Amino acid sequence: MIPLQVRDVEEGSRDRLGRPLHDLRISVTDRCNFRCTYCMPKELFGANYRFMPRSELLSFEEIVRLAEIFVAHGVGKIRLTGGEPLLRQGLEDLVRMLSAVAGLDDLTLTTNGSLLSLDRARRLRAAGLERLTVSLDAVDDTVFSSMNDVGFSVEPVLRSIEDADRAGLAPIKINMVVKRGVNDHEIVPMAERFRNSGHIVRFIEYMDVGNTNGWRMDDVVSAREIVDTIGRVHPLRALEPNYPGEVARRWRYVDGAGEIGVIASVTQPFCGACTRARLSAEGKLYTCLFANTGFDLRDLMRSGASDEALSATIGSLWSRRDDRYSELRSSHTPPQSRIEMSYIGG
Ligand code: SAM
Ligand code: SF4
Ligand code: SF4
Repeated sequence: MIPLQVRDVEEGSRDRLGRPLHDLRISVTDRCNFRCTYCMPKELFGANYRFMPRSELLSFEEIVRLAEIFVAHGVGKIRLTGGEPLLRQGLEDLVRMLSAVAGLDDLTLTTNGSLLSLDRARRLRAAGLERLTVSLDAVDDTVFSSMNDVGFSVEPVLRSIEDADRAGLAPIKINMVVKRGVNDHEIVPMAERFRNSGHIVRFIEYMDVGNTNGWRMDDVVSAREIVDTIGRVHPLRALEPNYPGEVARRWRYVDGAGEIGVIASVTQPFCGACTRARLSAEGKLYTCLFANTGFDLRDLMRSGASDEALSATIGSLWSRRDDRYSELRSSHTPPQSRIEMSYIGG
């Protein structure tokens, strides 16, 4: 089949609020070797939890076919995520296939860092991965192992960050979800661990995604509080965004030790600039992290739809999009059922 070209879709797609379709997060698996308490609590993701069988996952060919169509709609950036994406066998092959998609400017991956080695990082780099985000919620072993809830220690994750750096994937972004009373005392130690490293810690407000993490507003440490906590010890100055609509707000250390980011999804929502679509591992398209239903693109593909039909469906779904959950959060009754972060990849 002839791949769609950018010119086939008139000047990219815009939703009802005028937002273009620019980023795509692709979840490659719903499985994970961690049970982070804020994402896949053990009580719910236990031995009896039914993960997707392999036949339900999109194949690499299906993922690439959809990626080409999304790129024709204006997507310039793809992030691979999960579950834990490095659990997906042959991920390097998918990276190689995606990096050959014409028109894609940026290909990245978010991982918990537990399954990366220098060799794997080099293979991912050679396959065309450009950058990497590693999640790490604390530098203290006791805090980190109780948050991932499988007793995984900090040292191997730090080693993975170094390996990714040596493989040419720097600067590495390091995601820390901050939960009050759990790891907020680790904000300054995390900042200090990565000052002068060239890597960028991104402090993320704990979000009410999914139905299983028992989220309460009281557990959220605001971006403002995070910046003040660090700034009292190491003064910070705000930086301009790298590009319009950047999700993380950037701050730099006044003494030149590098920069940090804060993601204020709860206290300063950025729906107005949200240009992101999400594809689940089984091929459902979600236009918001807080959506309760997704559109089954896999079913459409497997029933023989042409590229043109898939493209028309994606264009029509995006043009009807009016999601702005985070902006409405305070005034609004949340939907009864929402997708889980481990399903849609953050
Ligand atoms: N397993 C990989 C990892 O942890 O990096 C990729 C998937 S994970 C769902 C993607 C990101 O979502 C991680 O940085 C994780 O910390 C973040 N995340 C998960 N649950 C969250 C929540 N309730 N609030 C804010 N961020 C969350
Ligand atoms: Fe797994 Fe990532 Fe969720 Fe933690 S945040 S449980 S590592 S998917
Ligand atoms: Fe985007 Fe939905 Fe998050 Fe708003 S709530 S920023 S629309 S994903």
